[in-house]
Amino acid sequence: MSFILPQELNKIILMLFKSYYEKAELELPDDMELREFAIQPFGKDTYVRHLSFSSPLELRNFIIENLPLHLFYSTAKYQIPSAKEMDEKGWMGADLQFDIDADELCEVRKINFCPVCGSKVDGEKCPKDNVETVEFTEITSDCINKALENALIIKDILKEDFGLNPELYFSGNRGFHVYVRCSGDCALLDSEDRKEIVDYIKGIGVPKYSSALPTDPGWAGRKAKGIQGVILDEEVTIDVKRLFRIPNSIHGKSGLLVRKIEESNFEFSTSLSPFSGYVTFLPYISGKFQILGENIEFSRGVPIKLDASIGVYAHLKGLGEVKLYVR
Ligand code: MN
Ligand code: ZN
Repeated sequence: MSFILPQELNKIILMLFKSYYEKAELELPDDMELREFAIQPFGKDTYVRHLSFSSPLELRNFIIENLPLHLFYSTAKYQIPSAKEMDEKGWMGADLQFDIDADELCEVRKINFCPVCGSKVDGEKCPKDNVETVEFTEITSDCINKALENALIIKDILKEDFGLNPELYFSGNRGFHVYVRCSGDCALLDSEDRKEIVDYIKGIGVPKYSSALPTDPGWAGRKAKGIQGVILDEEVTIDVKRLFRIPNSIHGKSGLLVRKIEESNFEFSTSLSPFSGYVTFLPYISGKFQILGENIEFSRGVPIKLDASIGVYAHLKGLGEVKLYVR
């Protein structure tokens, strides 16, 4: 027997994504015609890359025809962003991106289970049903708040110690991106330069400062406040040809929006979802889960009414299926 999880091709999910993108105000760079765009379409596990658009309307029309689970533009600017080979694109410089994932910072609960029989399984296949298992990683509010603290420290360092103007984004799933729109010297930093910035942010090679005060500038003051090095995915920063998840697009593994965060307006809650209304949700597994800060209990095979935001999240995480939508 073969069983393919139709998670992403569920008609309700497609309809919700489509109606969002028909009106979405994506946050696009002024120089969008110099960027490579990339999408991961529904039902595929590969990217469509080397796309290029000269206006938000042109991009919107493409998105509605080719509904994306994931949507990106390049941190780099190129002379020919649509060229198929990277070395034909004509690299003109790149923005600076930092990636912070909550599950790297906390002990997260991971549950590996079979979507057919609902039992917890070790390994990638259920021996009884011969289907691929689902791994659910529970992201709690506490954990995401730890990632936010890290992201705010990175933002502070870039601003205070480097004189840059960083912006902070919720990644749409389980972490944050700090992004600096670069021109001039900043854009032309090579991978080695970017690695040096990463090391500085991680506190590598920073002296001990035995008698520093919290009011001192730079790492001296930070260490006096008890701040240690920051944890981040340095590969993302070092790569000068990376993709950046587009602000106000939907993250296809959560149904949440990539959202800009001003100093203190972040809460890991249903407010991060663009979807309102209710769904009937059919769980594949029994158990208690924290989803978007709320405690939810599932009984396998027993339909439950959920906020659309929570139902879509649980669906895209593989915990079950959205069956019915009520606006
Ligand atoms: Mn990330
Ligand atoms: Zn099974």
